[in-house]
Amino acid sequence: MLVLAAALLASCAAPPASDETGRAKPAEPAAKPPPALGLPLRGGLSPVFEHGPRDADRPAVALTFDADMTADQGPRAAGGERFDNPGLVDALRELRVPATVFMTGMWARTYPRQARAIDRDPLFEVANHSYSHHAFTEHCHGLPTLPPDRAREEVTRAYAALREAGVRSATPYFRFPGGCHDKRALRAVGQAGVTTVQWDVVGGDAFNPDAGSIVRQVLDGVRPGSVVVLHCTLSAAPATEQAVRRVVPELRRRGYRLVKVSELVSAELRTADAKAGPAGEPRNGPVRS
Ligand SMILES: [Zn+2]
Repeated sequence: MLVLAAALLASCAAPPASDETGRAKPAEPAAKPPPALGLPLRGGLSPVFEHGPRDADRPAVALTFDADMTADQGPRAAGGERFDNPGLVDALRELRVPATVFMTGMWARTYPRQARAIDRDPLFEVANHSYSHHAFTEHCHGLPTLPPDRAREEVTRAYAALREAGVRSATPYFRFPGGCHDKRALRAVGQAGVTTVQWDVVGGDAFNPDAGSIVRQVLDGVRPGSVVVLHCTLSAAPATEQAVRRVVPELRRRGYRLVKVSELVSAELRTADAKAGPAGEPRNGPVRS
């Protein structure tokens, strides 16, 4: 249900990055290999990651935040509607909570300064949530559906928008809008070299003003290795900051470490290596052509 709500969050025709910065950007350095590892492709399909190992010595949970925005939300943003959530980011910093932020390209274009600041902060990592937040399958929570031949481009165009905004170290992690995907979509985004990141805990913050219910939903759902989906979009998820301020101390009291998705993926890779032995599958970073 909340995925549904999240899906409805969409959109925005945003100004170019330079409008917000008001100054010339330095030349971008040559593309560097991504700092976070992806999982190996499976038969040409993007691998789907839903949670980390359940049996880690020190249980970890990854809080993830989708920064949704769609092309048709530009006029609303221009009218003052907030699709960002600086208070949430401040709370994560204050509480020292590592987090992974899945940004749409439109969000990065609209809020380039925030996108850069999140990227520069070692507490956080930036991942890809498509360019326009359109659905990759039909019947996805009311989201408009992409033509199939634009699926891969949605991933590469989002990376380009992130780079334009000044994000230098986007991870090879991709989250489908609304989480909706099928084999064809996994093949398309697999060609862009990304690992698909879903979740096993829905935070329930989309269109929910009741922080208490979000807190309960997260705390009831988490297990070792969980990936929790929440949102970084005030307009559509107004109580996320309040909920995070209550969830984090309780998770820590229960013995959980809060980590980024990349740490859970690395743990998964180590587990796979241990099972495969020295001849385990090779793994590569993303191919972002
Ligand atoms: Zn989304």
